[in-house]
Amino acid sequence: MSLAPYASHPAQTRGRRHTESPAPTRSDYQRDRDRIVHSTAFRRLVYKTQVFLNHEGDLFRTRLTHSLEVAQLGRSISRSLGLNEDLVEAIALAHDLGHTPFGHAGQDVLNECMKAHGGFEHNLQSLRVVDKLEERYPGFDGLNLSFETREGILKHCSRTHAELLQAQEPGGVGQRFLAGTQPSLEAQLCNLADEIAYNAHDIDDGVRSGLITMTQLEAVPLFVRFRDETLQEHPQVTGKRLLFDTIRRMLSQQVYDVIDATRANLAEHAPGSAEDVRLCPPLVRFSPAMREASTQLKRFLFKELYRHPQVNDTTVQAKQVLTELFEAYITKPDTMPADFAQRGDLHRSVADYVAGMTDRFAVREHERLTGTKVF
Ligand code: MG
Repeated sequence: MSLAPYASHPAQTRGRRHTESPAPTRSDYQRDRDRIVHSTAFRRLVYKTQVFLNHEGDLFRTRLTHSLEVAQLGRSISRSLGLNEDLVEAIALAHDLGHTPFGHAGQDVLNECMKAHGGFEHNLQSLRVVDKLEERYPGFDGLNLSFETREGILKHCSRTHAELLQAQEPGGVGQRFLAGTQPSLEAQLCNLADEIAYNAHDIDDGVRSGLITMTQLEAVPLFVRFRDETLQEHPQVTGKRLLFDTIRRMLSQQVYDVIDATRANLAEHAPGSAEDVRLCPPLVRFSPAMREASTQLKRFLFKELYRHPQVNDTTVQAKQVLTELFEAYITKPDTMPADFAQRGDLHRSVADYVAGMTDRFAVREHERLTGTKVF
């Protein structure tokens, strides 16, 4: 791997919170990636909702396949820009570890239940999973990942939470939200790869589910442009193959656009090191035209898919399951495993326990504790 000067170089890592001797054959970021893949939270992603609930179909994206697609897009762009592919892969595979069951509906419920107890936010929870909740090492809680991986995982953070993090870890991952600086290019890239991935796969899953149609997608200029390109080259193609080829072209063009626009930003700002990057404006970006096109597509998906009546129905049911589950554990902490029941801060323990659940485990637990079947 040949790294550009502005890439994150493992030799210059800000290190781990608990000192460990280096691995003989792997860089720190490779080691982080491996720890993430072997974690319990990572395996749970396979049964967690991205948009469609896990039991709605076997072929829709789950958090796991979504994370793999983000890693694929991220690595591909990273290689072209001379960034650190291992770090990109580690961040991408970990970026959704803190997601609750049932996607955003789950996060909204937990945030509501935790209102008087510090709130709940999935980015912070992802960090909490890798810093604290994974129990795999004799000497420390969590996975003890490198600073740069943790920085990438904490994509957003409110000022209040940043101040709390800063108090626990001065100059740590909360700092940039207070100082207004940027994270590494690898972290910036994962953000954008996330957006490119879900925009594309949500069209695919949306059409496959029948909730949106190819005709509706004519309202999205980016889609129309590549659909027409496909039809020009293959006038006979219809249905599934037309959809896939359109999405494939859209994905490629977004990737090329990020690479070109980012190269231009790098040439303009000329950061000499990964530390310089933190003082520049965000550098991994779409061109203004692609930014606009991507935003239009996001707006379309929000309106036509994420707020589709059928999706709304499952959201209502998911909220009922998690609200009642949360309440049940608060009332009877002993119905949780002993290590959660006895952790002290009961509300936070329940939030950690519920957030860690897969969709189907949450449904089973809800049935066990309330005797009602929601789905
Ligand atoms: Mg994501």
